[in-house]
Amino acid sequence: MNERRPAGKTGPQKPDQDQNEEEKRRERMQRQMRFSLSYIVTALIVLWLFQEFILAPLVLQQARQISYSEFREKLAAGQIVSVTIAEHDILGQMKNPDPEGQPELVPFDTVFTPGSDPKLIEDLQAAGVKFSFQRPASPVGALILSWLLPLGLLGAFWYFAYRRMSGGVGGLGGIFGVSKSKATEVKPEDVGVTFKDVGGADEAIAELQEIIQFLRAPERFAKLGGRIPKGVLLVGPPGTGKTLLAKATAGEAGVAFFQTSGSEFVEMFVGVGAARVRDLFENARKAAPAIVFIDEIDAIGQSRANAIRIGGNDEREQTLNQLLAEIDGFKSSTGAPVIIMAATNRPEVLDPALLRAGRFDRQVTVGNPDLIGRQQILRIHSKGIKLAPDFDIEAAARMTPGFSGADLANAMNEAALLAARRNAEAVTLNDFAVAIERIVAGLEQRTRVMSAEVRRAVAYHEAGHALVAELVPHGDPVSKISIVPRSRGALGYTMQMPTEDRYLLRQAELEDRIAVMLAGRAAEKIIFNEISTGASDDILRATELARRMVTEFGMSEVLGSVRYAGQQLQYLGNAIEDNSSLSQETRKLIDSEVKRIISEQYERVQRLLQENRTALELLTQELLRCETVDGSAVKAALAGQVRTCEKPEN
Ligand code: ADP
Ligand code: ZN
Repeated sequence: MNERRPAGKTGPQKPDQDQNEEEKRRERMQRQMRFSLSYIVTALIVLWLFQEFILAPLVLQQARQISYSEFREKLAAGQIVSVTIAEHDILGQMKNPDPEGQPELVPFDTVFTPGSDPKLIEDLQAAGVKFSFQRPASPVGALILSWLLPLGLLGAFWYFAYRRMSGGVGGLGGIFGVSKSKATEVKPEDVGVTFKDVGGADEAIAELQEIIQFLRAPERFAKLGGRIPKGVLLVGPPGTGKTLLAKATAGEAGVAFFQTSGSEFVEMFVGVGAARVRDLFENARKAAPAIVFIDEIDAIGQSRANAIRIGGNDEREQTLNQLLAEIDGFKSSTGAPVIIMAATNRPEVLDPALLRAGRFDRQVTVGNPDLIGRQQILRIHSKGIKLAPDFDIEAAARMTPGFSGADLANAMNEAALLAARRNAEAVTLNDFAVAIERIVAGLEQRTRVMSAEVRRAVAYHEAGHALVAELVPHGDPVSKISIVPRSRGALGYTMQMPTEDRYLLRQAELEDRIAVMLAGRAAEKIIFNEISTGASDDILRATELARRMVTEFGMSEVLGSVRYAGQQLQYLGNAIEDNSSLSQETRKLIDSEVKRIISEQYERVQRLLQENRTALELLTQELLRCETVDGSAVKAALAGQVRTCEKPEN
């Protein structure tokens, strides 16, 4: 894989990202569905319980149930005082048969079928009983009374809650406590971690220094009139220590730390998320100076453009807007600063509004650690553990390519447990090896740990990219090559740093770009005489560029300076090309021209690499040794130098 910066991403997103997003959406919808369903089910059950056990007994309890014959007897005995004849029963008052200490009159209720006793009225009159008829209750009325009314009340209650909570803090939302943020607050003196506890993240730490300076002495920044930092976005795969870094920043600066996750703000009710954001920042301002850390910011910060519009996407939008408002507005009463740090593995899905100047305009990339970084992390996590005297940390680090900081912490811990289980005095390298075997078994499914063979292939592949970038006349200089797997999909990367922003590219430059893209595959082919799937993304991008050269830039002699590219259509938010206006022959011609460009470049690259076989070998070996190297390694390899990796400092 080959990557350049700044990433002027034109190609389609990686399919696994789309899938990921799709999954998340589905999950969220399911969660909302589940919530609604459980609300309805609970409401119905509550209603039923209410009717069955509260309402019904309430009505019936006082009235004594008697049979019709009993009623007739009492009537004949002159014990009935008054009755109301209803549709299906007769209700009334009768004299209490045993009135000791009891009320004289008791209500009664007897089942009655109208028309079954024609003499009833006569007898009632004869007995001098007050009687009346009840209007037959309409079934609609009964339904309304027993079901619709309570349901309506429940609905109104829901609606009211919904309104109040979107309207502001307090109200019902406040009563429920749902508008309270669930963020955990850590007092400055309890933070307890500093940058000493973070290994293999020197670049990130360097970038965070400014934030610390600012938190320690905000006046100085204000005096100089510099723009005040507000938000830092930590970008990187899970377990690489983003949370740890944020916390350590608070520790270094000696400020309070608020930790929460984006998913906490994604709720069913509109406005709850926004209220929680407000509450969170209110607390943070009270505790200022402080750092607010939001993990998985993509849960709220997803671009509004590609958000699904089912039901209330209002909710996320409100939450996001509230977050933006807080970032823009926050000034604590004392003037002490609040810095917001957020973590994500998918910065590309974030709403551009979040990344604007004055918001999360500082991005810090945190990757899986390289060999040296892993040694540092292992040292940190072996502090409380008794290691055998011959435990070689470097060897341990070599066994764990592709491990994240969390994986390493886990492995070290597991090794200690294993040693304890065999009643050993200290943890040996062998314990560690067994521990990683266990962890790797879990990791391999996530394809982050590579076998030695794959590693070799990736090293040749990346070395190929880097060498060709150096060898072609218009290649952007290589800044970094790495075979540390960064995330799913990408097993390694070569980063090029353009010397200047290019708006106008000549044909030769575009061809060089294609050459660099194809170089990974060409190197694999030369060394192993076979090709892996690792180059599919390169091929896609090379083909795309070649096609644009032919159809958009008029760089094909055969087709001339005619724009053949179809119109870009927006279809369900995805750009698709409409080629229907092109004739069959033209399309064939385009394809053959694209193929010609690619093949020419591929052959050129193979030639270049064959001629520099030794350099390819040297660079690959250095990559396998050190895992991450900078641009100087390419030049050294071309000069035939063999270098060693730098040693870790601590
Ligand atoms: P993230 O937030 O990136 O998912 P965390 O910060 O939660 O990762 O990391 C989880 C744990 O893994 C940390 O508490 C720490 O013990 C360990 N860890 C991760 N990265 C590092 C690192 N660079 N140095 C030391 N420990 C680390
Ligand atoms: Zn590649």
